[in-house]
Amino acid sequence: MTAPAAFADKPLIETEAVPLCPVCGGESQHPFASGFDYESLTCRNEWHFVSCDRCSHVWLNPRPAISTLPVIYPPTYYAYNYQQQISSIAVKGKQMLDAAKMKSILKKLDRPPTSFLDIGCGDGRFLRAMELQGLKRENLYGLELDDHVIAPLAADGFKAYCRRVEDCTEIADNSIDLATMFHVIEHVDDPAAVVRKVARWLKPGGILAIETPNVQSLDARTFKPSFWGGYHIPRHWNLFRPLTLQKLLQDNGLDVVDTRYQTGHSFWMYSYQHRFNFGESPKPRLAKWFNPLGSLPVLIGFTAFDKLRAAVGMRTSAMLMLGKKP
Ligand SMILES: [Zn+2]
Repeated sequence: MTAPAAFADKPLIETEAVPLCPVCGGESQHPFASGFDYESLTCRNEWHFVSCDRCSHVWLNPRPAISTLPVIYPPTYYAYNYQQQISSIAVKGKQMLDAAKMKSILKKLDRPPTSFLDIGCGDGRFLRAMELQGLKRENLYGLELDDHVIAPLAADGFKAYCRRVEDCTEIADNSIDLATMFHVIEHVDDPAAVVRKVARWLKPGGILAIETPNVQSLDARTFKPSFWGGYHIPRHWNLFRPLTLQKLLQDNGLDVVDTRYQTGHSFWMYSYQHRFNFGESPKPRLAKWFNPLGSLPVLIGFTAFDKLRAAVGMRTSAMLMLGKKP
């Protein structure tokens, strides 16, 4: 596939091969999907996802070299300034969905938590929500890779650190009641090592809640060859389905106690946006209607659609799995 014209002046970045399946270690793999950085246009590389012949896990191979992270996560990357980019109604809606999600997770704990860790804590909104539930700041931990958001949290007395899980030495083993990783595991280079380490940090009976894209969903299947929004090329390095995420948790010390499906409205919208921008007959004006950061009516439509689908037991593209330490 040649790069679409819009990518012509973008850099070609360095890559590294990932020969073994990050979930089962298998060597045999087959092509799954391929595409470009349709969302942020940071580079002109064509990227390929492969699928493991043994366990069906999907991963990016090759993937961007670590030295290129500042290129693929530019300062404008939306995860860092999400609140400023979306409308206040969308912010309110997201807060309601987040609150409902946390409530459903807390129900699965044997007792009310006294310590909480949010991996990829952003501006700390979940830390503050747990403080409102009565937890003390000295027992509220957050990890994030952007020091601009960590510094103010640490100054406010939260245990906030600018670290990857793999490099963090500040959290004691058997000390955390609840750990959350919302849309993080798909970005890391060694998901098994991350889960193993978080499992060590959990108290017996403690829970790790992981939310991540689900490649076994209607939108993922519809846009499979290239345009699915859940690919987030080249920033998503590992893509799970319920079975492979379950295997990842079980192989690394946790029992799966619950799986539920959240709304994947952003993935629907990005999928259509990419198709209208880069498909066979581009329709850029139509594509604008599918911008998740700016098109409220379509956002509400897809949220309602996925809510309804999840309510009747269908698997959406955002799965939430809870692993408990025995
Ligand atoms: Zn595998």
